[in-house]
Amino acid sequence: MRKGAPACASVFATPQPAPEKGMSTSDVIIIGGGVIGLSLARELAHSGLTVTILERHVPGKEASWASAGMLAPQGELSEGAFLHLCLESNARYPAFRAALEEETGLQCYHREAGTLALAFTDEDEAEFRHIYARQRADGLTVEWVTGDDACRLEPALNPAVRGGLYLPGDRHVENRLLVPALEQACRQRGVEIVTGAQVTAVRVADGRAVGVETILGPYDAGLVVNAAGAWAASIGVPDPALRPPVFPVRGQMLALTLPRPGFLSRAVRSPRGYLVPRHDGRLFLGATMEEVGFDKRNTVWGIAKLLAGARELFPELEGCAIQEMWAGLRPGSADHHPILGRTSLDGYLLAVGLFRNGLLLTPVVSARLAELITTGNTPEVIAPFTLARFAGEVAAGRIPGA
Ligand SMILES: Cc1cc2nc3c(=O)[nH]c(=O)nc-3n(C[C@H](O)[C@H](O)[C@H](O)COP(=O)(O)OP(=O)(O)OC[C@H]3O[C@@H](n4cnc5c(N)ncnc54)[C@H](O)[C@@H]3O)c2cc1C
Repeated sequence: MRKGAPACASVFATPQPAPEKGMSTSDVIIIGGGVIGLSLARELAHSGLTVTILERHVPGKEASWASAGMLAPQGELSEGAFLHLCLESNARYPAFRAALEEETGLQCYHREAGTLALAFTDEDEAEFRHIYARQRADGLTVEWVTGDDACRLEPALNPAVRGGLYLPGDRHVENRLLVPALEQACRQRGVEIVTGAQVTAVRVADGRAVGVETILGPYDAGLVVNAAGAWAASIGVPDPALRPPVFPVRGQMLALTLPRPGFLSRAVRSPRGYLVPRHDGRLFLGATMEEVGFDKRNTVWGIAKLLAGARELFPELEGCAIQEMWAGLRPGSADHHPILGRTSLDGYLLAVGLFRNGLLLTPVVSARLAELITTGNTPEVIAPFTLARFAGEVAAGRIPGA
């Protein structure tokens, strides 16, 4: 730990002098330069710690790039600790984004227009009415809109829409701008970012993590954080119980050219897909959910599904040009919730399993994990999300791959 760094003896070991040629030493090594690794590195560097990000390829080009950038804490029927985590993160977003933009001079084009979640069938309507009732009972801000209300808000909507939810607290961010801004902020704060550095295993000495092995050689650190996204379970660990139950969930997406400026003012979704307007006149359509391993190809089925979902919402999109299609791998987890914080191996922490909400959860995960690392105390809001919650299932062999 460097001069000026806060006391954190319970989380850190003192890095040893480099014993092998070429080895680099830092307070914290973060495996993976996605939105989670970058944002955590930025926070830690602000606290005076020396941080190295080891990135297999180049930063920010996996799930964090593929994402739709919706910040939708009430988008699903979340409850309990996970809902609190999402709401805290959404509340932190304006300050998080403003600080990042000020620090880097880069714009992230955050949009605060809410989301419409719209029904076209009896089944859709029953689902949204259920969500509406639950969220109102939980004291959340949600409005029921009729089909006419929805068409007044978004005049290009299919008039067959029956109505649905308006979630005014939802936002979206240009993730393809946010992630490079985080990378620049890290560099400005002195974070070392090593590209082409695939981590193969965590190095352990005297019962604690002391660094990692990479294809470039070993790296030494007082603390290791695994933020390797969908690949998190591939990092070698001394005990299988330390391997997080994380796996890839493919999401196919595509981008259209908007028919005209102002065609759509906010994110709109139905149970069959969503549309998110971007600052550059494009419209993102998403996203499939497929467990097909580490395969990032687009398929006829996937693209047809996205187009059908979009045409149902906005028939006028029929004539639009398709600009781009892509797929990314969400870091899924066994219970669909993130895996955050300490493990049973001293000095080895996890920031993985962000699944469908990694962009939304970036501010809370980075701030609260940095708090844990710099104080040694686990903040209450992340306490329910440790790897320990899977211990029983792993022991009973109920989590494949864990
Ligand atoms: C199609 C799609 C749409 C989405 N839409 C939304 C949305 O609207 N809102 C939202 O909040 N979330 C959304 N998500 C989810 C969100 O994108 C992810 O949860 C988030 O990006 C995860 O960030 P991450 O940093 O954990 O992973 P990643 O961005 O995948 O980064 C992990 C990094 O680790 C690196 N790495 C892997 N293995 C190693 C290794 N062995 N050594 C070194 N480096 C390694 C990878 O190269 C990568 O750069 C979406 C995801 C997808 C795919």
